[in-house]
Amino acid sequence: MKNKSEPWIREAASGEAAETVHPRTPVSVIGLGSMGHALAAAYLKAGHPTTVWNRSAAKADDLVAAGAHRAASANEAVAASPLVIICVFDYRTASELLGSAEHSLDGKVLVNLTTGTPEEAREMARWAAARGAEYLDGVIMAGPALIGHPEAMILYGGSRSAYDRHEAALKVLASNSPFLNEDTGVPTLYDLAMLGLLWSTQAGWLHAFALIGTAGVEAAAFQPYADTWFKNVVAMDRSDKMAAQIDAGEYPDIAGSSLGLNAAGLGLIVRASRDAGVDAEMFAAIQALADRRVADGRGADGFTSLIEAIKNPAFASEQINR
Ligand code: NAP
Repeated sequence: MKNKSEPWIREAASGEAAETVHPRTPVSVIGLGSMGHALAAAYLKAGHPTTVWNRSAAKADDLVAAGAHRAASANEAVAASPLVIICVFDYRTASELLGSAEHSLDGKVLVNLTTGTPEEAREMARWAAARGAEYLDGVIMAGPALIGHPEAMILYGGSRSAYDRHEAALKVLASNSPFLNEDTGVPTLYDLAMLGLLWSTQAGWLHAFALIGTAGVEAAAFQPYADTWFKNVVAMDRSDKMAAQIDAGEYPDIAGSSLGLNAAGLGLIVRASRDAGVDAEMFAAIQALADRRVADGRGADGFTSLIEAIKNPAFASEQINR
């Protein structure tokens, strides 16, 4: 259906491709922190008419000098463009700012690139829909320096039609910008799952350095050995096999390293860490999961079997049994 607030889309419907008729959709960017500033700069560089607003107005100065229009308020920024990007500290802030602009949202496409939880994303989608806006939630899997570069990835969910109409403009920020799901909470789940992968890996490295340090060994002396181990063993391309096992719900030991053996090894890390005065709780938590599966008779499974303990937390069965 033609949308009165999007004349370039309407013109395109008469025969030519949207990008031919009007190559640059006007965009408003609300929030010019490290990330929002990079987003606005990418739109300016790509030639989009760009309106910006930030609580601390000075962060817009260089963008305005480069051709951006400075909005006097979040409401003015929303009113200025059909495509509105918001990227602020958290959802509470985003909600407050959008609340001040709720009467300008009708007919807009609102793209929220603020990090949050799935429920926050779904609630904002409901709120935006009630005000006549189409809503897309996006998660930025990159730092500000990568915005506009091929390595950047942004994952979207929510309104499929809004994504389809604005795909070209969205891809200014990251050419790798797939639409995942009409459930607005899904991109946020991907985001948090991948951040968990990042932080658990980094914390594993830090625990390793701390443990080595208890014998007076410098991190730099240990690092090359750890790197070889990491590349050849830890990061070996096996995630596809894990995923296949998880989707099948069967966890045979295909690596010749049973969960029972891994549970015993985890126990050694915990003991050695405690003996050396290093925090062992991260590994004690993994050991507890492994021990639960072993106690359930799954010791001969592969390590992937641990997922069943993760999906069925001990506290849940305690609550059920209470
Ligand atoms: P940031 O540099 O700390 O900027 C925070 C932004 O939120 C600023 O524009 C700030 O305005 C605004 N803000 C905070 N409280 C506010 C309030 N009460 N009222 C109005 N505005 C307020 O953070 P960022 O790096 O730009 O991150 C923004 C979002 O992007 C976050 O959700 C973050 O998780 C996500 N993200 C960031 C990265 C990254 O590498 N930086 C990567 C992926 C996703 P002022 O300038 O006035 O303080």
